[in-house]
Amino acid sequence: MEDQDTDLKVMDLEELRQEIAEKKEKKLEATRQWRASLSPEERRAMHKRHNLLYKEKYPEKLREWKKAGYIRNREAIVIERRRKRHKLKAEMIELKGGKCVDCGGTFPAYAYDFHHVNGRDMVVGNLVLLGRDALLEELNKCILLCAICHRGRHVMDDED
Ligand SMILES: [Zn+2]
Repeated sequence: MEDQDTDLKVMDLEELRQEIAEKKEKKLEATRQWRASLSPEERRAMHKRHNLLYKEKYPEKLREWKKAGYIRNREAIVIERRRKRHKLKAEMIELKGGKCVDCGGTFPAYAYDFHHVNGRDMVVGNLVLLGRDALLEELNKCILLCAICHRGRHVMDDED
């Protein structure tokens, strides 16, 4: 009698497990169907809400993400600044005739300097910050030299 009772209980438990599993699967299927019925906008809104709830629940994760995002962003900013600087220098070289005033040679952009005829030489990195008009005004006071001729000019200046 006791054994039978135990068997019965085991059977009940197995049935119960199956019932729970079926209910769970039904629920999952309903969720799947509901999700599939959503428009892309609705899905985006749902994700957004979910993200907000998640961030509220795990603030430390949010801090980690923000930090990682900032680092990624900082790298992108540095790359973008460099790209702008190179583009600006290429434009300036073009504006100044594209060759060294002293030796007449043409070189890659990195070999050119903007030599201020009477004053401080231009450093392209600083010029990015200037407006276009101020930049052109500065550029008018400069001549384009290759690095070798530029050094030559300064040697002559020093010997004066
Ligand atoms: Zn030169």
